[in-house]
Amino acid sequence: METKQKIIVIGAGFGGLSFCKKIDKSKYDVLILDRNNFHSFPPLFYQVASGGLDPTSISFPVRREMRNRKMQGCKFNYGEVKTIDTLTKTVTTEFETIPYDILVIAAGTTNNFFGIENLQQRVCTLKSTSQAIRTRNEILLRLERAAIETDPERRRRLLTFAVIGGGPTGVEVAGALGEMKRYVISREYPTISPDEVKVILIEGSDRLLRTMSESSSADALRDLQQKLMVEVKLNKTMKSYDENGIITFTDGDTIAADTLVWTAGITAEPFKFTGFTPQPRPGARLAVDEYNKVDGTDDIYAIGDISYHEDEVWTRGCPQLAQVAIQQGNRLAENLNNPSKKRAFVYNDKGSMATIGRNHAVVDLHKFHFAGWFAWIVWMAVHLMSLLGMRNKAVVLINWIWAYFTSSSSLRLILRPSRNPSTPINNN
Ligand SMILES: Cc1cc2nc3c(=O)[nH]c(=O)nc-3n(C[C@H](O)[C@H](O)[C@H](O)COP(=O)(O)OP(=O)(O)OC[C@H]3O[C@@H](n4cnc5c(N)ncnc54)[C@H](O)[C@@H]3O)c2cc1C
Repeated sequence: METKQKIIVIGAGFGGLSFCKKIDKSKYDVLILDRNNFHSFPPLFYQVASGGLDPTSISFPVRREMRNRKMQGCKFNYGEVKTIDTLTKTVTTEFETIPYDILVIAAGTTNNFFGIENLQQRVCTLKSTSQAIRTRNEILLRLERAAIETDPERRRRLLTFAVIGGGPTGVEVAGALGEMKRYVISREYPTISPDEVKVILIEGSDRLLRTMSESSSADALRDLQQKLMVEVKLNKTMKSYDENGIITFTDGDTIAADTLVWTAGITAEPFKFTGFTPQPRPGARLAVDEYNKVDGTDDIYAIGDISYHEDEVWTRGCPQLAQVAIQQGNRLAENLNNPSKKRAFVYNDKGSMATIGRNHAVVDLHKFHFAGWFAWIVWMAVHLMSLLGMRNKAVVLINWIWAYFTSSSSLRLILRPSRNPSTPINNN
């Protein structure tokens, strides 16, 4: 009997799961590795950070997903891959070293702080569920602290929330903070006047949502400024953020803000390779050919955010979006299932969208742009459909309906993780 080739997939995100669902398990043994035991849904992290959604409603256990008919035959091991040895064809996590015949890297990206000193320790980020929960805690802590602060200067800093990066995530976070200011603070923090709260969105280029149409940028700017009282600063690049909460810009301007939400950059998840040196590509992504094979390797593929795939349309690489990851995962599985009929990957752009508080969103579908309430309904429908699990879809929908009619949520909790001090971090 022919032995099956062993495929290891690093990452149970959009790319990894779509690959696992399509790959022919009668031909391959498939093992998926992830440092979390759940699949997460980054597009809604900002709602976790602003207390609008419970993190469990946008997460789905990988082992539960293994029971999905399309996943049957796949195995899951929990662990963070640290090294990839292309000579021995093994990957190593904190728990084990595992051999592979084919490796699929679908590990996504992490924050890029562009070498700005000590930024990681001081800013709030949104690249994982844990980071979104931490951001929620930090925001709520500032509000609690400000509610009892009497020194006006200290109050001003506590109540200034700066968001760096005017892409979709920055716009969505700033919009959510603007809504908190408008609907929540006046009701739940009687000692804070909403006028004391400042939300400032800072973008280095001359417009918000630079990857979307000019109409979307203009609509987002108008809605943030006029409806949500968000201050928007364009053409401003941050140079440093010190321990006193002072943001300094390259033009010499400064802003004092105790909370800084960083959405300005991402870089590929790093791995230590043995026997292979990746080609330098923007965002430290792994360069792949049209079949998603990593340049310079025979048996390693990369899909999703971590991969860098250029073609005539996407001359600076495909966008780092969920649809790209899903389509690459599907195409790679089809190609491995049927190598004699393999087809090059071509991204089918289904459009992009961003929301700016409730009732407002912008949508670009090829050359067609629309904004406002209908765009917001489309945004909600697309996100609900993309969530894994019926329970999650139902919980998120109920939360949204509840919040729409009451402008309230009971999720604004400061919850800090606690670990048994005698348990080593890796449970080794
Ligand atoms: C805040 C935010 C908002 C976004 N909004 C949108 C949006 O509205 N629309 C859209 O299309 N895209 C959006 N994106 C981008 C979208 O989330 C990504 O394009 C998509 O998740 C990429 O899928 P992926 O499979 O490549 O990686 P991911 O979905 O990030 O999955 C990577 C997986 O790999 C695991 N992993 C990473 N490193 C290791 C390791 N060393 N060992 C083991 N496991 C590892 C992670 O735990 C994770 O489960 C957003 C992203 C963020 C951060």
